[in-house]
Amino acid sequence: MPNWLTNFVLPKIRTFVGRKEVPDNLWKQCPSCEQTLFLKDLVADLMVCRHCGHHFRIGSGERFKMLFDDAVFETIELPKATVDPLKFRDRKRYTERLREGQAALGAGSDAIAVAHGRIGGIGAVIAAFDFAFMGGSMGVAVGEALVAAGRLAVERQAALIAIPSSGGARMQEGILSLMQMPRTILAADMVKEAGLPYIVILTDPTTGGVAASFAAIGDIAIAEPGAVVGFAGARVIEATVREKLPEGFQRAEYLLEHGMVDMVVKRGDLTATLARILTLLREPVVVPAVAARPA
Ligand SMILES: [Zn+2]
Repeated sequence: MPNWLTNFVLPKIRTFVGRKEVPDNLWKQCPSCEQTLFLKDLVADLMVCRHCGHHFRIGSGERFKMLFDDAVFETIELPKATVDPLKFRDRKRYTERLREGQAALGAGSDAIAVAHGRIGGIGAVIAAFDFAFMGGSMGVAVGEALVAAGRLAVERQAALIAIPSSGGARMQEGILSLMQMPRTILAADMVKEAGLPYIVILTDPTTGGVAASFAAIGDIAIAEPGAVVGFAGARVIEATVREKLPEGFQRAEYLLEHGMVDMVVKRGDLTATLARILTLLREPVVVPAVAARPA
């Protein structure tokens, strides 16, 4: 409630002591342990807090650099989707939200990017989300991108690795966004039917329509530590079932314990883990045939 203290005294005190806020470009505060981290160290640690292991959200570009051999990769141009089919407007116009996202991530971009390269020497296509772009929400453009990624993997006889980080479907596109759920399943199936590995790396957060479509059907489901993965949010579920949910509900470690993910892998170990899995799946060790024992 605004009063004499907040309106008059507080600003005076602020001018007097100066703002104590840390410059954004030098330091970052860990939202988990609240330690202040030197941004340079944090980048060197792949955006993982060195005190508590909290995994910060990172974008598609960082994922590609981190995962492809020698950070060598080629991003592909994605099919253009119809912009704002419903002329949607909430507090802001949808076109305005798109513009803001593109101002941060580049013209023509959306909440996903696709690149190909090698991981452990084996061909791979990665489709990685950018949560910074409208919460990584899945609209037609994201659906198109996943189909393009699937086609590219088949064409190059490469593995497909999907890295979701998304709040779910993009409500500004209404039912068109929901139609991307079966489309992305088909994209993943295309890769599976070609006998190629389809791996999902679940990162924080993977929820809603994304958790309920392509993200749920990886041949191998890997999750980053602490990632929230689930269809509906914990608060909604709690209010519906009127029961207290267990500690760590919907977190990667909980899902591992309950068989929903195959492994929880620290960001720093992802490259080596992927390389090992791809080698096993794509270049299996040839075991010499056992000679028949003479009678
Ligand atoms: Zn921390």
